[in-house]
Amino acid sequence: MKKHTKVYLVVSLLLLLFASGFTLSIHHTDAAGYTKMKVHYIDTGESDSILIESNKHYMLIDAGDVDDVDTVVGYLKKQKVKTLDYLILTHPHADHIGAASSVIDIFIIKKIIMPSKTNNTKVYETLLDTIAKNNLKITKPKVGKSYTLGKASFTLLAPNSYEYGSNLNNYSISLRLVNGKNSFLFVGDCETEALSDIQKNKQTIASDVLLCGHHGSKTSTTATLLKAVSPTYAVISVGKNSYGHPSSTTLSLLKKKKITTYRTDENGTIIATSTGTKITFSAKPTDLSKGTSTNTSDDNSSKSNVVYITDTGKKYHKAGCRYLKSSKTKTTVEKAKKAGYEPCKVCKPAS
Ligand SMILES: [Zn+2]
Ligand SMILES: [Zn+2]
Repeated sequence: MKKHTKVYLVVSLLLLLFASGFTLSIHHTDAAGYTKMKVHYIDTGESDSILIESNKHYMLIDAGDVDDVDTVVGYLKKQKVKTLDYLILTHPHADHIGAASSVIDIFIIKKIIMPSKTNNTKVYETLLDTIAKNNLKITKPKVGKSYTLGKASFTLLAPNSYEYGSNLNNYSISLRLVNGKNSFLFVGDCETEALSDIQKNKQTIASDVLLCGHHGSKTSTTATLLKAVSPTYAVISVGKNSYGHPSSTTLSLLKKKKITTYRTDENGTIIATSTGTKITFSAKPTDLSKGTSTNTSDDNSSKSNVVYITDTGKKYHKAGCRYLKSSKTKTTVEKAKKAGYEPCKVCKPAS
């Protein structure tokens, strides 16, 4: 090969590389220099699991319930996730950590952030074992600390206290995710007390999109919170349940504030795409004018099939039974009976 042919080849190769790199960057970055970020509110039913992607970096906030392993793991695989930069487990309730052990076993996890509050359940103990087995360390959340995810970033807003008593929801990690000028707020299952502490801690909470806390419960989407966050959009991660989620109070509050609202029970998985200046949704907003349809179709009626068991008890219960406490596992009447459980005499679930 002649010398100038070689030079020509090298130059054209460089040009080609430059051109392809250039096209790539045009593809992902808009005129203002922002990069696209996607927030996937995965439809796991009455539980939470949110996958966030920025510049091929991934974060998972919560991992659904114990029966959501296939849904969560399958969704992440479909998105070609191999590594999670962050796995955030907001609080140790089964509907948030349920499939976390499988996620940790299957994907490479760079950092797990979990509150120090523990839970005396099998699913939580298995999670701790899995973390240890995979030689991972738990990072405790520090309010005000910020992390980078691809071209996006997030700041931790809660927990602000470890003295909320026995209600584990209030120990939830809360975070505000920012991509360019767009922002997303996550409050886990924080209820009134913890939410007011978030508002007091001097961190920014105003956000474009709010994931309504605790599956749309009225104690987690309060008028004061909505005023402070002032979201344009709200998402409710909810499935069939007997708690009356989402609460009609929450829905009428969202309607009153004219907040465009999306529900996973109506839409399935909801994907919000942020360009840094604009947010679009993959789903149709719920019709709040239709009134306040809560998802209680298999509610307290005798037809209800969903019941809850505890790790130590011998009875199965309806949701909300005072004997349930926090260590509950969702199951069906058939399964509970087969496993030798009897109906609770206090809440009288279906038998
Ligand atoms: Zn909870
Ligand atoms: Zn929950």
